[in-house]
Amino acid sequence: MKVIATPSRTKEILEKFDLYAKKNYGQNFLVEPGIVSKIARNAIVSNHTVAVEIGPGIGALTQMLSQYAKKVVAYEIDERLPEVLAYSLEDCDNVEIVLQDFMQVDLKALVNKYPEDDVVIAANLPYYITTPILFKIFESEADIKRITVMMQKEVADRFIAHVNTKDYNALSVITQYLTDVKQVVKVPRNVFSPKPNVDSSVLQFEFKKKDPSVNEKLFFAMVKACFKQRRKTILIN
Ligand code: SAM
Repeated sequence: MKVIATPSRTKEILEKFDLYAKKNYGQNFLVEPGIVSKIARNAIVSNHTVAVEIGPGIGALTQMLSQYAKKVVAYEIDERLPEVLAYSLEDCDNVEIVLQDFMQVDLKALVNKYPEDDVVIAANLPYYITTPILFKIFESEADIKRITVMMQKEVADRFIAHVNTKDYNALSVITQYLTDVKQVVKVPRNVFSPKPNVDSSVLQFEFKKKDPSVNEKLFFAMVKACFKQRRKTILIN
């Protein structure tokens, strides 16, 4: 099996299919196998893990996930790519590629298809849509065991920010209320092709147990309102 996440194999595949990276889909392909393997290994929770991947691209992470997971279901929006993935992943018989915008996926229905398994999410996220994708997962109420995803470092820093720092905002409060979040690894920009203008981070999220006494809708609205005027102090009588 040829590892996809190398500069030479990526170039070979792109040339074979006369492909170029589409900026509007946030396409930056990973070309460093050590990082890809680290994401895949961290994504797995048990020996019956079903990994749902967002945006397989030409299959760099999909290939490594397929080695560790029982099954991989990968959603790709770019209609040029299923043909490429059929070629690049021909040795991986536990991978299902779905040509669909991930934002349209019914996550609860997807998870319910695997009642005996642990469903996790793994991705090198398209950066133009990182926060909407994560909030779709957070709000889905689907039983997702773990989320392991790469994103732009500046966005990651807000998810993991501590109170009283400049990065701490509504996103940090809501994310840390819903999940235990931690940084898995920092990733320099030179492990991608094409090279983006920013560095990245891989974060891992695991859902906390819900507190039934909290009215979440009200709580989230209040948090967002509070951070609209960051310089003001709130007095509670
Ligand atoms: N996983 C590959 C890798 O690491 O080399 C590609 C990652 S690239 C940063 C993001 C991928 O997400 C691209 O393949 C892009 O076409 C896909 N994508 C963008 N928007 C999407 C969406 N809404 N739903 C599914 N895939 C999407």
